[in-house]
Amino acid sequence: MSAEWGEHCGLFGVYGHPEAANVTYLGLYALQHRGQESAGIVSSDTHALHSYRNMGLVSEIFTRDVLKRLPGRSAIGHVRYSTAGTSDLKNVQPFTVHYARGGLGIAHNGNLTNAHILRDELEAHGSIFQSTMDTEVIIHLIALSNEHDLASRVVGALKRVNGAYCLLFLSEDEMIAVRDPHGFRPLVLGRQKNAYFVASETCAFDLIGVEFEREIEPGEMVVINEDGLHSFYPFIPVRTSHCVFEFIYFARPDSFIFGRNVYGVRRELGIQLAKEHPAEADIVIPTPDSGFSAAIGYGHQSNIPIELGLIRNHYVGRTFIEPKQSIRHFGVKIKLNPVKELIKEKGVAVIDDSIVRATTSRKIIKMIRRAGAERIHVRISSPPITHPCFFGIDTPMKSELIGSSHAIEEINRYITSDTLGYLSLEGLKRCVGDNNSSFCYACFTGDYSIKFPSMMEESQLRLYKAR
Ligand code: AMP
Repeated sequence: MSAEWGEHCGLFGVYGHPEAANVTYLGLYALQHRGQESAGIVSSDTHALHSYRNMGLVSEIFTRDVLKRLPGRSAIGHVRYSTAGTSDLKNVQPFTVHYARGGLGIAHNGNLTNAHILRDELEAHGSIFQSTMDTEVIIHLIALSNEHDLASRVVGALKRVNGAYCLLFLSEDEMIAVRDPHGFRPLVLGRQKNAYFVASETCAFDLIGVEFEREIEPGEMVVINEDGLHSFYPFIPVRTSHCVFEFIYFARPDSFIFGRNVYGVRRELGIQLAKEHPAEADIVIPTPDSGFSAAIGYGHQSNIPIELGLIRNHYVGRTFIEPKQSIRHFGVKIKLNPVKELIKEKGVAVIDDSIVRATTSRKIIKMIRRAGAERIHVRISSPPITHPCFFGIDTPMKSELIGSSHAIEEINRYITSDTLGYLSLEGLKRCVGDNNSSFCYACFTGDYSIKFPSMMEESQLRLYKAR
């Protein structure tokens, strides 16, 4: 799949702090789970923007020397992750441009669903694109705007784009944060004395001792400059569509997003899963680390001891970093190892948060079987994933999602478990406390809150790659 379309990211921004680049580095460090492929920071010393971006992990990219070259009291940063395609420095964010009105840095979490249409239009009028990222469209729209202030130029540009976006903009003297009207991705606001902070998740604030003030609301734009913080709602309101997968898998359990603590929700998913799909098991084994929180709920509800039957080597990256299937298989083996003495001759309930292609689950089940398990009951704390995400979570094409073409019993046979149970959609909705349909469940239902022609569903992901 195209790296440019399917990706997830993390954002961090600070305004008015004497060590802006250093705290941004720490913020990104806490958000590393949202993207491990590349990272960047842009800072402003009020005269000019300073930028550094590179491939790799935050701790590898930002040495003391690099951070010294990012002076100023405001900064924005970005971590990015993609499964395949062009791992190219030109696509690393934040983008920084110098246009007629000065410097501008931009960092984006999400996916724009009409970027290719806008890009064709802009190119037809002479725009020259530097990257293959959808985000760059926003920069061109801003540069073409006749409005006098940056906030109005941003609003004008965003009124033309559709899709999911949490955005941070940095000019020499201003930081702007925007969350799309659907509120697909989380974005939170923090404060420490006279400094303001914005991040994808609250775990970034905890690390630097910043007080979490509130979530930036769907459709809200926050402008921070020397006059303080000003909040605007410049877009037509729509029904919110928080990404439920943030709760299921993506966000860190210690974060507070969409009005809830992530761990608390995951634990409830496990409790609900145990109610819906009890298992005759001697032990509950979480798949590290994604299954931990739900396994605790599952074990608690079913009164079965939770054991660490799979041990993870934390010094290898996530399986999904591997760009090719052949390496992915290898990745599972170097990442996880069963505790044979624990598993031998036992009935085990293996808990994970989701099945995507089922390649990892199949490997894990085989591993547990070889370790001597008598019966293996796989329990998944979300419904089958049947549709790709176009709003900022990295999922493969529909044809690669096992849940899109196989019944649960077929998936059970494929992964070689004895029984397989998925959480129901109703159970999921109950656990996230969704009374007014304020979440996006499109990866389980195909019901996308932003509609686009169905032909685009498969081809959209390839569009930029084909360029
Ligand atoms: P698979 O073998 O493709 O079914 O992978 C399932 C595993 O991938 C589960 O352990 C999930 O925690 C994890 N996972 C689910 N969605 C994603 C995603 N978008 N990016 C990375 N990992 C994921």
